[in-house]
Amino acid sequence: MRTAYYNAVIRDSSATAILTEDERIIQVGTDEEILAEQADESVNLCGMYLMPSFADTHMHLAGMGRYLSELILNGCTLEQIGTKLRGAEVKNGWIIGRGYSENNFAEGEVLNKAFLDSISKDVPIALTRVCGHKMTVNSKVLELIGIHEDYEAEGARIYFETGAVEENAIPMVHAAEPVPDEKTLMEYIETGAAYCNKKGITIVGSDDFLSILENYKGMLNAFEKMSFQNRLTVRVNEQCEFNDVKEFSEFLDEGYTMDVGNDLFRIGPLKLITDGSMGAHTAALSKPYVNDTQSGYVCISEDDIRIFVQLANRFNMSTIAHAIGDAAVDAVLRVFDDEVLEGNPLHHGLVHCQIMRKDQVEKVIAKKLSCYIQTQFIDEDSQMMVMIPEDLREYSYPYRTLYEGTIASNGSDAPVELPDPIRGIILAETRKSIKNGIPMAPESERMSRRQAIDSFVEAGCRQLFMEDRLGRIEPGYYADFIVLDNNIDTCDLETLQKTEVQMTVMNGRTVFEK
Ligand SMILES: [Zn+2]
Repeated sequence: MRTAYYNAVIRDSSATAILTEDERIIQVGTDEEILAEQADESVNLCGMYLMPSFADTHMHLAGMGRYLSELILNGCTLEQIGTKLRGAEVKNGWIIGRGYSENNFAEGEVLNKAFLDSISKDVPIALTRVCGHKMTVNSKVLELIGIHEDYEAEGARIYFETGAVEENAIPMVHAAEPVPDEKTLMEYIETGAAYCNKKGITIVGSDDFLSILENYKGMLNAFEKMSFQNRLTVRVNEQCEFNDVKEFSEFLDEGYTMDVGNDLFRIGPLKLITDGSMGAHTAALSKPYVNDTQSGYVCISEDDIRIFVQLANRFNMSTIAHAIGDAAVDAVLRVFDDEVLEGNPLHHGLVHCQIMRKDQVEKVIAKKLSCYIQTQFIDEDSQMMVMIPEDLREYSYPYRTLYEGTIASNGSDAPVELPDPIRGIILAETRKSIKNGIPMAPESERMSRRQAIDSFVEAGCRQLFMEDRLGRIEPGYYADFIVLDNNIDTCDLETLQKTEVQMTVMNGRTVFEK
């Protein structure tokens, strides 16, 4: 199947038309040249902007699909949460919601077990905070998971009085939830992928193994089947999350390691979680949060990080570590210092790169560590910087420095933020929350438009080792591209805000059309 797309403005090119054959671009040229070629279909793009599609290099695709299928609490006050819960449909005996944040609550409003018990004491209610690192549950849930007093284990905390469930304790709640069958998992993946397509994304780095199920196998099977059945509308580079070494070695023993798979579904790096989130005060800082005695905590020991990294290295698999606070970054950097080869050929890396110190930024660049940044976080996080000790703010969210010094690719961490590269580009360029106008210091870390866009295109493809076949409109490259109603490389910010994806093509197939 050959398709000619003509009458377009093409990024970084004087050409106005392209010809695709099946999943590849085979020719780029003028309208005249391309329309002279034989094609099954010709699409007039009416002068719109054609560019490579976006790559979101860290998200949770299946988790996002589930999130979109659940009760969404983002932006809700406590009163609104109450109204939603009272009207919620009980699915498989549970009410499950996600996305709440105290930032949206009115003065004096507290979400806790007592509040949820006032909705129901018989139906289990489990709400996940917007960051995904904390839940609040009612007493029915605590009863189901056998908690009758405060609980504390490595990186896991449950507060009996408030119903707060943190970090490694969260899987205990998920284990009690009704388990989605394979068909449901696939629907979640499809829902997540369709949302990506709507926002111009056809390539994702996605961490899914433990985000819904307790064991990697169910999720891996679902992805492999969907890839085989050609049902994926985004290319998935799976960031393989493990928290149990035995399970990870079982995975390796089965023959899986980085690069196994194809350009639709591929095994990516090992993913480790080393601390929590800022909003929940569980991101591990080297000193206490402002007006708090807590400084968060590293939820995996440095020895265990090392064991994981060494094991992965033996199979040529890189490790990427979720590390938000500088104390977590310290632990990871000490391990990487010994275990990462010169020039970092496997792309070992850090996910988030938020609260960092000067010495850490310098080390990351010197070691060429891969950085998975989320400029969309500025929207929510700029208002949270007041709780970070002042001397830790100066080198935090160092997006421009990282982009210029190593591979820093952008993403959403969906469902923490729903993926929206255009919004991510605006936030990278302005470094100012769109929601509330609060700027994120320092201003010197604002990215140029070119850098901001390329963090979702060129750097994303490079991060995932696909830059020789994705991220450019050139013959031989995959036909993964988007059509926008404005030239986002040159338009002003106001126009950029209004810009919408008109069409998304992935592997030669139109997966979204407005
Ligand atoms: Zn994540």
